[in-house]
Amino acid sequence: MHELLDSALARIESAASAEELEAVRVEVLGRKGVLQALSKDMGKLSPEERAARGKLINTAKQALETAYESCKAVFENAALARRLESEWLDLTVPSPGPRPGSLHPITQIQWEIEDLFRSLGFSVLDGPEVETEYYNFDALNIPKDHPARDMQDTFWLEGGHLLRTHTSPVQVRGMEKLGPPLRMIAPGRVFRNESVDASHEHTFYQLEGMMIDRNVSVGNLIYFMKTLLTAIFKREVAVRLRPGFFPFVEPGFELDIQCLICGGTGCPVCKQSGWVELLPCGLINPHVLRASGIDPGEWNGFAFGLGLTRLVMMRYAIDDIRWLQSGDLRFLQQF
Ligand SMILES: [Zn+2]
Repeated sequence: MHELLDSALARIESAASAEELEAVRVEVLGRKGVLQALSKDMGKLSPEERAARGKLINTAKQALETAYESCKAVFENAALARRLESEWLDLTVPSPGPRPGSLHPITQIQWEIEDLFRSLGFSVLDGPEVETEYYNFDALNIPKDHPARDMQDTFWLEGGHLLRTHTSPVQVRGMEKLGPPLRMIAPGRVFRNESVDASHEHTFYQLEGMMIDRNVSVGNLIYFMKTLLTAIFKREVAVRLRPGFFPFVEPGFELDIQCLICGGTGCPVCKQSGWVELLPCGLINPHVLRASGIDPGEWNGFAFGLGLTRLVMMRYAIDDIRWLQSGDLRFLQQF
């Protein structure tokens, strides 16, 4: 018994691995192990011998189990230390997180213009993209048989609704809601039933603005437009004003800027003309004021529509409008 105990203890203490230790445990302490076999034989012994043998076996068993548990703990601690070392993680390092994005160039310029007009005392208004025929056309002095409706072919929805062709309906809503005096801009997404090419998209962005007060003149209009363009392009831009027809203004103008992509020599964006139509504008037609319950005898004002998408193309020299809604990250990561 003493020999058995000594040799088993020596094997437990010299075990080189957890597997080796386990093999000793199975052999000596296991259900089919040596100690168990010795216990089975005890039936043949006298009661005195049996008691003495049982005591010996139990003492040996306890000594071996204690030795086994402490060796096992050493192996487990070593395994845990190895794992902690190999799976070490510094929780104070900032997480890499998702790759930061950037604002779309249209959003960037829209926010810049909003800031500029806010500083000039204008409110920034929003309106629905799904409009009624009344707000998109009729209230803007564009009756059913008017040729301007052909120029603004759009997507019609059930129930007489349509996707707005311009942000002008927000002007009508603004006049109705706020009344004069009024300074507002309305940036937003608009839609046309267009064939798509380098300079036409079915979905694009405009920014509409109006000022209604007493004694507003074309001089006021030109002042605000020049302030706007200087702020956007951060330099002098050649502009020209030519008469233009828009049913909701009278007189109406077409404000063109010299093409910033080709410098005026001609390219696909300016359709080889050297000029880009940027800004239809004019003094608000009295019919439009009256339709919104404003007395044109007392109030007048100017209105302008800005091609926000076109402005972005001019500022960043983007030669194809289709890039803007392509969702192509190679394009977007440049801004
Ligand atoms: Zn050009």
